[in-house]
Amino acid sequence: MASIENFNFAGKKAIVRVDFNVPLDENGKITDDTRIRGALPTLKKILSDGGSLIIMSHMGKPKGKVNPKMSLSQIKDAVAQALGTDVAFAEDCATADDMAAALKPGQVLLLENLRFHPEEEGKPVGIDKEDPAYADAKKEMKARQTEFAKHLASYADVYVNDAFGTAHRRHASTAVVADFFDNDHKMLGYLMEKEVKAVDNVLNNIKRPFTAIMGGSKVSTKIGIIENLMDKVDNLILCGGMTYTFAKALGGHVGLSICENDKLDLALDIIKKAKEKGVNLVLGTDCVAADSFSNDANTMVCNVMEIPEGWEGLDAGPNTRKAFAAAILPSKTILWNGPAGVFEFDNFTAGSRAIADAVVEATKNGAFSLVGGGDSVACVNKFGLADEVSYVSTGGGALLEAIEGKVLPGIAAVKGE
Ligand code: AMP
Repeated sequence: MASIENFNFAGKKAIVRVDFNVPLDENGKITDDTRIRGALPTLKKILSDGGSLIIMSHMGKPKGKVNPKMSLSQIKDAVAQALGTDVAFAEDCATADDMAAALKPGQVLLLENLRFHPEEEGKPVGIDKEDPAYADAKKEMKARQTEFAKHLASYADVYVNDAFGTAHRRHASTAVVADFFDNDHKMLGYLMEKEVKAVDNVLNNIKRPFTAIMGGSKVSTKIGIIENLMDKVDNLILCGGMTYTFAKALGGHVGLSICENDKLDLALDIIKKAKEKGVNLVLGTDCVAADSFSNDANTMVCNVMEIPEGWEGLDAGPNTRKAFAAAILPSKTILWNGPAGVFEFDNFTAGSRAIADAVVEATKNGAFSLVGGGDSVACVNKFGLADEVSYVSTGGGALLEAIEGKVLPGIAAVKGE
């Protein structure tokens, strides 16, 4: 694998996979351009070296069909403005041969949404997984995917992957395309390098104590990560909706709180494993309960084991917040994924806020803190604290899979593994 910093792009055409899946309003205007800004260091380096750029991305889930609402033409001007140069647009990413061939140093071509072609994701369309013909359809689609990737590769001399958010997918543009470049002509972009380094810091370069904070709504979606982290962390804080599955498993009454009744044994198993491995498991003891799922609900603080009928726990209570902060403050490595309450409602942000404040404080005292996975990022943004933690990851699913210890196809393919 080459390194973007050391590679000289002068006179070269680089095809760069970025994540320009930016949110748009109903008029097709960008509401948050973080992802475009995130890719700029890589794109600008290529242009300033004297290379030309072919930018490719997905947007939304068009499921292999052209859908004007998900056209990247809507963001062409914003990309041009961010780069400070004109951007040409190829209306079909699969037939951009002439436009790519005509590119001169310093010029930029943006390809239309890759996912308008089913080959990008490589999944057969219009056939049920249970259908006996599915296996053959899948094989055929994989072959088409390889051809599609080969065609994309033919546009350029170099491949750069800077789309961490899709690195956990083996799509044509995120992984298969890399097979058509030798090791000296494929590399990770700057954003991707930063993500990989941040994950490495919390998985392989751990300074202790190491505290992981897992929140969000359900145990079931986080179990892989929780199990993986159990071998690594000193403190494991489990918060958010998960709290009530644990409380019920321990014999509590959780009222209307979110609770996965089929995961009670799993919760007990996590408690047992934490004990065996000497992990300090921190669970909520009190909560802010509400009499309806709304910001304006009546509230009361109660024990998580004794939530009255008709009430539901929507946030961590004051004692719990103190316990979370006590575990977080002395930590030297921190991973935070998932809020401690329904932070979207202003009246139920206190638990997440207490965590955010403690993470910021620990970071000031020298901890490395990684915040990632959709909602926790929204959470630190809501509190205006994104700049006060060590790293905010752009990857949701990709980050979680990396932390679970899985190999990400988008990274492995570039590394030539
Ligand atoms: P996840 O996608 O699993 O990370 O969950 C994030 C969501 O969990 C957020 O939208 C939160 O509002 C929600 N959440 C956190 N705590 C609770 C709770 N106590 N009850 C219901 N939802 C919660």
